[in-house]
Amino acid sequence: MKNLADHADRRTVRWPLLAAAAIALAPAAQAEWVSAQAAIMGTSISVELWAEEKAEGNAAVDAVMQEMHRIDRLMSTYKEDSAVSDVNRRAARETVSLDDELTELISRALTFSELTDGAFDITYASVGKLYDYREGVKPADEAREEALRAVDFRNVILDTEARTVRFAHPGVRIDLGGVAKGYAVESAVGILRRLGVEHAIVTAGGDSRILGDRQGRPWTVGIRNPRDREGVATRIPLQDEAISTSGDYERFFEADGVRYHHILRPSTGQSPSEVRSVTIIGSDATTTDALSTGVFVLGREKGIELIESLGDFEAIVIDADGVMHYTSGLAPAGYSSGLSEQPQR
Ligand code: ADP
Ligand code: MG
Repeated sequence: MKNLADHADRRTVRWPLLAAAAIALAPAAQAEWVSAQAAIMGTSISVELWAEEKAEGNAAVDAVMQEMHRIDRLMSTYKEDSAVSDVNRRAARETVSLDDELTELISRALTFSELTDGAFDITYASVGKLYDYREGVKPADEAREEALRAVDFRNVILDTEARTVRFAHPGVRIDLGGVAKGYAVESAVGILRRLGVEHAIVTAGGDSRILGDRQGRPWTVGIRNPRDREGVATRIPLQDEAISTSGDYERFFEADGVRYHHILRPSTGQSPSEVRSVTIIGSDATTTDALSTGVFVLGREKGIELIESLGDFEAIVIDADGVMHYTSGLAPAGYSSGLSEQPQR
């Protein structure tokens, strides 16, 4: 889609005399920003896009929301009838058939496990299912250690040719929560592109995918101060990119001075406390989502080292003292590599 100026130019070329009058007489057909918000996938979804006409824009927004619902129905572990719940019920006993989409996403999830040395691991759910953050429930040490035996991405035997999955241990459960929102915003932006949208941002919780720019300027995405709901730690200008933040403040409870939050270290079944949030920037939201969770578990040093080694991705880590750390690629944007900024408390 074009902005208003382009729109007017084109009309001017085709119908020089009618151009001004057409725009003046038909304000309802003017291009404009269309936006919407909804609660889907257990999080807040928002869309903002530039549309030639409002009706077109609304249809595009609806298509995004439908896509979020579709992915939620496929992948939610809270929905008994989702494909992932079906896999979790059966794959320890039998080989379960998958569709192309789930085969591909599980395959990518396993690749992210390899890449992060097991820090990102969808079988975290084997122990993750014992926590209830809303109710403040955590497992006793013995139960946690017992469940941990099933946690290992190598226990997911995926056959990408036959499109089947089988678990190598009876206690294995998978959960795509660490990658599904990124996948969903990436997929939604693909739909928008096919509909002809050229400027948009789609956000699901901490994951955003940006299409084009915002009226000739980059979009600006704020990274939250992990200890202040309203506070912004920093703002990042972006266009045609994805950005994902994983934080210890999204879903958590505190007990005995310990913060139990929704990211678990697969080797212990407990929440890492070295960092408060990790933001990853890159071209693909599925990857930035998985990496933000993985780097959270890896911690600042190993995490930043991994992201530097990938080349095309950047990271911002806010550590337990509220100090921000950046990858070197953010230096040209005015940040200082390896150096920390002021504590965010
Ligand atoms: P958010 O859900 O706030 O966007 P993340 O992208 O970090 O944050 O995803 C956290 C979710 O990832 C958790 O709610 C859980 O479903 C899943 N998860 C937790 N620990 C891991 C892990 N070590 N590997 C993969 N997924 C995880
Ligand atoms: Mg993530």
